[in-house]
Amino acid sequence: MQLEHFKNLTEALMSLPAVGKKSARNIALNMVTNDRSGALRLSHAIEQAVANVRICTRCGNLSEHELCAVCADDRRDRAKLCVVLSAKDIFTIEESGFYKGLYFVYASEESFAPLEKMAQDGISEVIFAFAPSVQNDALIYFIEERLLPYGLNFSKIAQGVPTGVSLENVDMLSLARALEGRVKI
Ligand SMILES: [Zn+2]
Repeated sequence: MQLEHFKNLTEALMSLPAVGKKSARNIALNMVTNDRSGALRLSHAIEQAVANVRICTRCGNLSEHELCAVCADDRRDRAKLCVVLSAKDIFTIEESGFYKGLYFVYASEESFAPLEKMAQDGISEVIFAFAPSVQNDALIYFIEERLLPYGLNFSKIAQGVPTGVSLENVDMLSLARALEGRVKI
């Protein structure tokens, strides 16, 4: 059976998380038969998103400009810096509506230099919004030690966020409470 393009589409779909061979084939079949216009819309959306979405040069948040919407917003509290492990956690915290400060995405050890730069720019409190775990606590300690010379206050979310659970799976009310009831470290 030829169907080279159909096979390519199936394989591309299989590279998505949690999509196996059968589902990939079903989705691909639906795309090329029943939902051709939906499939083209999806393809266009993917192309546009990949071409236009990038990482904020300041904080690591998703952005469609050099600076993200949070960094560019003068109404944000520029004395507070919430450090997260992934840009997706920013969506979760923003949806809780409680936090009005700035963010920083600590994606890898290479994130330290830009974090250090941001921490020296009028920040007085650094809030670690990491899901509680031994590994994350060690990372908090590591970052805090290295930021010590800048005389900042450090806190971390605690209450209401269960150990080992990803932030995106924490309900909004718990997350808002965890931010409000953050503990000084
Ligand atoms: Zn930003």
